[in-house]
Amino acid sequence: MRARLPDFRLGNVLATSFTGTLSERHGDAVERIPTPQRLVDWLAVNGLAVDSCTTAQLDLARELRESIHAAASAAAIQDALPASAVQVINDCSAQGRAAAILTPEGTRRWRLSSASCVEDALSVIAADAISIIAGERDGKLALCASSTCQAAFFDTSQSRTRKWCDMNTCGNRQKKARFNANQRKNRGSGG
Ligand SMILES: [Zn+2]
Repeated sequence: MRARLPDFRLGNVLATSFTGTLSERHGDAVERIPTPQRLVDWLAVNGLAVDSCTTAQLDLARELRESIHAAASAAAIQDALPASAVQVINDCSAQGRAAAILTPEGTRRWRLSSASCVEDALSVIAADAISIIAGERDGKLALCASSTCQAAFFDTSQSRTRKWCDMNTCGNRQKKARFNANQRKNRGSGG
């Protein structure tokens, strides 16, 4: 069963979907994994189902998330990677024992060493972050053009000119703001 949780942004890139669980980082930040259960929910919809999660595991997850955010943001602007963030990502990657499994239908599935092993799930996310930051994947890291967001996202568009982390949220908001500004200008043009 795949639960659909409308307030999770499900992108095609695991690592940046994960960093997106803290949105509007430069505005009124919204924490989308405020409790261990919410992390369990997020992992389930991202193909990394675990039975349970402790507060310590949630803390570790958030530490990894912020480290990926820091490293991916630096990579997006070709800045030096913060050493502490790299360390956390590498530690998380090394800690897990998740195995990639090929299903009979020819799709990839992750098998965790045990159903309570959030660390395994985090290692998959960390490895995903490593692959995009290291430039192993077809796409380019960029920062969202929304001033209240500035999230690092992975642009897989052909032209590599995507401006927003998500068309449905930041992209839409920007379009609306532009539209409203134009309306005001048009109204104001009479005097
Ligand atoms: Zn954004």
